Amino acid sequence: MNIQSYKRHIGELDKNHLWHPFTQMKEWTEENPLIITEGRGSFLKDIYGKWYIDGVSSLWVLVHGHRKKEIDDAIKGQIDKISHSTLLGLTHLPAAELAGMLVRIAPEGLSRVFYSDNGSTSVEIALKMAFQYWQHKGEKSKTKFICLNNAYHGDTIGAVSVGGIDLFHNIFSPLLFKSFKIPSPYCYRCELEKKYSSCRLSCLKEAEKIINKNKREIAALIIEPLMQGAGGMITSPPGYLKGIKRLCVKYDILMIADEVATGFGRTGKMFACEHENVSPDILCLAKGITGGYLPLAATITSEKIYRAFLGTYRELKTFFHGHTYTGNQLACSAAIANLNVFKKEKTLYKMQKKIELLKKELNKISECRHVGDIRQKGFMVGVELVKDKKTRRPYLPEEKTGWKVCYEAREKGLIIRPLGNVIVLMPPLSISHQELKSLTRITAEAIREVTE
Ligand SMILES: *Cc1c(COP(=O)(O)O)cnc(C)c1O
Repeated sequence: MNIQSYKRHIGELDKNHLWHPFTQMKEWTEENPLIITEGRGSFLKDIYGKWYIDGVSSLWVLVHGHRKKEIDDAIKGQIDKISHSTLLGLTHLPAAELAGMLVRIAPEGLSRVFYSDNGSTSVEIALKMAFQYWQHKGEKSKTKFICLNNAYHGDTIGAVSVGGIDLFHNIFSPLLFKSFKIPSPYCYRCELEKKYSSCRLSCLKEAEKIINKNKREIAALIIEPLMQGAGGMITSPPGYLKGIKRLCVKYDILMIADEVATGFGRTGKMFACEHENVSPDILCLAKGITGGYLPLAATITSEKIYRAFLGTYRELKTFFHGHTYTGNQLACSAAIANLNVFKKEKTLYKMQKKIELLKKELNKISECRHVGDIRQKGFMVGVELVKDKKTRRPYLPEEKTGWKVCYEAREKGLIIRPLGNVIVLMPPLSISHQELKSLTRITAEAIREVTE
């Protein structure tokens, strides 16, 4: 089969049988899909042999690049021993070893690792643990959660119940449990119509009002530290996270940090909580945990929470939750190799200069006529496009401006994916200085061509 007919064949199979995530399939089947066949370092190759920069790290997961030898070798080595055995009633080397490594690098006070296989389940587990913790403590009324507007914690029903993105979540509202919402610290479009920093973090004061009013019912607060990802790459102002932690302590509610996106170096430190010296009661990890290779997630809790579940079997304090592939051996081996590369290559140290370079390059993009706001924390970037810079008037959803920019970038050899009018850049931590410059240059060109 020649490449044209092979591509047509794959395209037909895809269009006839696949249902893609977060995709309007009617539009999908009217277009030609990009078929990825290979990856190397910061690049993806399509079926014609054209290479692209992987500008969003294959949906926020890639850490040390594609085909990283150490991770490849770890997985291959593990395959020759065993690929999977269960953690229900048995244990194994990679799961135990990785748990020790995770506890060593996690914020202080977190000591127990509960595995699952994706970010949403890591959040479900955190919510159920927090709820059950208070039940065992005799605080039976603490059954609800506080979350932020614009929050994203995954797509399962529990995770959606603590989500705050109307576009994704509204339709499911009859299925959801009720959560209390506090304002999103979205300074560019402040819900309280204040200006940073003269606001002196009014959003925290608003949060306190809501928490104080409902504290008897609240089991936990869940937050994406420093950066609300899928909500539009919204960075919280300095001191906000610490303020949230203070409120959790003051009102005796558990704090769940969802670092599914921000974890594993994405913000320039191993975990975003470190920027404000915050230790949550429960930490959710997934995406980058295996370096972007295999599905794995971890929910890490404090000893205090863990101990509340101890007792004789008859007391029914067991945490009755578990997924079939929990702590998969291959995935844990990849995660161990991922963490070893961090250490061996001083990834976080080397990243700092690149973060500065990225910041400098982004400054150039901010001059574009239709770039309203640029938000960056380490290697997580949101470039918010606006119709009118002065009034901050947004483009209408049906204009698909974000998508047009991303399609233009694709022509120029960069794969990125927008969140509405926000262009997301999230390169792998291993990206070179030169590649980083190409990434921002192409982004700027694409923005100009579409919006000017
Ligand atoms: C991606 C994401 C999730 C969901 O993870 P999945 O693996 O897609 O289920 C949860 N929380 C945050 C902050 C995320 O970015």
